[in-house]
Amino acid sequence: MILRVILVITFWSATCHSADNASGFKVFRVLPTTNQQLLQMIRLFETADTDRADFWHAPSVVNGTVDIMVAPEHTDQFQGYLEKHGYTFQVAIEDLQKLLIEKEGNLSTHITDDDVFLKRLHDDVGFHSRLRMGEYYSYSVISTWLQRIAENMSDIAQLIKVGTTVEGRDILGLKFGKDTPDKKVVVIDAGIHAREWAAIHTASYFINLIVNSRETDPQIQNYLDNIVLYIIPVLNPDGYEYTRTDKTNPRARMWRKSRSPKACAFDGVRNSCCMGVDLNRNFDFRFSEIGASRYPCSEIYHGPSAFSEPESKAYAQFLTSLKGRLEAYITLHSYSQLWIYSYSHRKFTYAPDIEETRRVAAKAVQELGRMYGTKYRHGTGPEIIYAFSGGSTDWAKETLKIKYSYTIELRPGYEEWNGFVLDKNQLVPTAKETWAGVTVVLDEVANQWKSSRIRESELNRIREEKCADRLAGCAYWLQSSPNICRVSQSTMIRDCAKTCNLCHMIAV
Ligand SMILES: [Zn+2]
Repeated sequence: MILRVILVITFWSATCHSADNASGFKVFRVLPTTNQQLLQMIRLFETADTDRADFWHAPSVVNGTVDIMVAPEHTDQFQGYLEKHGYTFQVAIEDLQKLLIEKEGNLSTHITDDDVFLKRLHDDVGFHSRLRMGEYYSYSVISTWLQRIAENMSDIAQLIKVGTTVEGRDILGLKFGKDTPDKKVVVIDAGIHAREWAAIHTASYFINLIVNSRETDPQIQNYLDNIVLYIIPVLNPDGYEYTRTDKTNPRARMWRKSRSPKACAFDGVRNSCCMGVDLNRNFDFRFSEIGASRYPCSEIYHGPSAFSEPESKAYAQFLTSLKGRLEAYITLHSYSQLWIYSYSHRKFTYAPDIEETRRVAAKAVQELGRMYGTKYRHGTGPEIIYAFSGGSTDWAKETLKIKYSYTIELRPGYEEWNGFVLDKNQLVPTAKETWAGVTVVLDEVANQWKSSRIRESELNRIREEKCADRLAGCAYWLQSSPNICRVSQSTMIRDCAKTCNLCHMIAV
């Protein structure tokens, strides 16, 4: 195994380190057809320097495609390597920068647009909370927008701060619905992976929908009345802002991790130092076991220890503070069109309530598909994509015993070429159909809470009917021994429920 690691690393080390050119990035689609080829790809995935080879689709099974973005100065060698080892492959994207300009160049992703939007938010006296959808915004615009919603709609929304990032940004979100201690809580997040812009857009769409349809849409009203819903649209704002620094440069735009300071590790050939941790490998669930890397230059670098990163640590603390009430947790990612549930570190490993988890996932996927016919698959990580550990949903499922804990991989599908570069026209439909799927989970939580309330009020009515003293001497006993109701509670519930004021405890 060590020999294989060194061989793979030697391949990458044979070439000089990256130049800063943004053109000439290619995406290869590779098909491992033998076990040996698959293992070789997995080793490459775990050890490759993101600056050279960035995996868009991790290797998981023989005859399952693997998409790899390769830096310009390495493409010839990589192609030679694939040919030499007999891989079946295609060049899926000839020039990624060209594709970025074509698909995202016309989007309002420029600093001047952000300035205009911030000014509008600031000067908008009547406060029109609508964020124009189908565009991408800076974190500064998104967080100002969240603040303005909370300031202007305090009856339904409250600003929350989950924590602070390595670079000092506040991780902000909104809390919707009136909070009462008996209500169930749902948390939705996006953007733990920086380059997954479609996920951040989708979470923003959800917020937009809630604040703008709260008076007209009975379904939204139902959620506001019956659940407490948190939405955190950008969990990794440092990484997200980094992807926006040079949006047509694949090196920046395709950044996945956080922006934590450089860490170094000897990779068998040299000491490699890189920034950033994959926050979705940094949770304390089977930390570092599988589908994660100990090399800081890998895009799936898990960090020095579980919860070593301020972002994941703060988020875990936030979720833990909701323990007992947190009924559903959904994290939005892209891409592959998958609805993933626990556990993802090993095949055929499930939580005891897997049947219910699977039932709701199947229903959500069906509902999502009803809108535009988009096909999603559901299952655990190793069942439908690949095994990994240290993810947020598995940690939440195991530690907080959340009933519905899902990772959703949005459009496009696994077989599409464009990957993270979603066509502008697909942004709103992606968000809309995802909302349709998410409402299945929200409905479950809201309806279960409502029916438990109805059940409780029916039980109270029956208790009220039964509420009486069975014996005549209750008042006298209470007078002569004032503690009798508490000391002999079960007898007194039976005999003197009314006098002892214990009707709410009558068994029905
Ligand atoms: Zn992701």
